[in-house]
Amino acid sequence: MRVMAFSPHPDDEISCAGTLAKYVANGDEVAIVFVTNGEVGSATMDRKQTAATRKEEARASAAVIGAKFFWMGLQDEFLYTGEKVRLQILEVIREFDPDIIICPDKENDYHPDHISTGQLVWDVRVMTTVPNIPTASPPCTKIPRIYYMDTVIGINFIPELYVDVSQYWEMKARMLACHKSQQGWMKDQYDVTHEEFVKIHTMFRGFQAGCRYAEAFRIPKFFPERLESDGLL
Ligand SMILES: [Zn+2]
Repeated sequence: MRVMAFSPHPDDEISCAGTLAKYVANGDEVAIVFVTNGEVGSATMDRKQTAATRKEEARASAAVIGAKFFWMGLQDEFLYTGEKVRLQILEVIREFDPDIIICPDKENDYHPDHISTGQLVWDVRVMTTVPNIPTASPPCTKIPRIYYMDTVIGINFIPELYVDVSQYWEMKARMLACHKSQQGWMKDQYDVTHEEFVKIHTMFRGFQAGCRYAEAFRIPKFFPERLESDGLL
């Protein structure tokens, strides 16, 4: 299995980090795409310094689980859908040829860059296999299946699936700790402790799922959908 997660900013991958760690432990190939450079996420560093710092933090986070690292470097807070960026998203997907993509929930997330990332993945999903839309890499071998990851602290998100990540909390915490610059930023901007914020959320989903720690997902509904056994018949 090849699994590709889209993180609009460096640290958004934490919403599905335990699940990604679990895929890696199962022997699956995992990639994380950091879409924007996160350059506004600091009250103490300028944009250039912030982007460079966050790139290294993102690289370190991906390295914790040995995920392939993709850095698109698009402008933080100004991610829009359009031909150029669609083709960039299309190419990054083709380069990895995933079976599964995990991305933000474009219907329920709060942040415009998260919504745009989910929208862009949605927009190019079917195009991934179409040869008449050429990019540097060949078309994907199959249309990838998409899962929406949980929103920030679960606001507006009604889970459809849970992944038990109890055994991967340590890995998730290590990935989160890589985003050092965001600890101060979360405190300055939102007056929250980053680790506590993530831990409570992952434990809350764990209580819902009947385990210690869990991550929650939704399945977007669109054509063409693959038939998969859901235990109903
Ligand atoms: Zn974000």
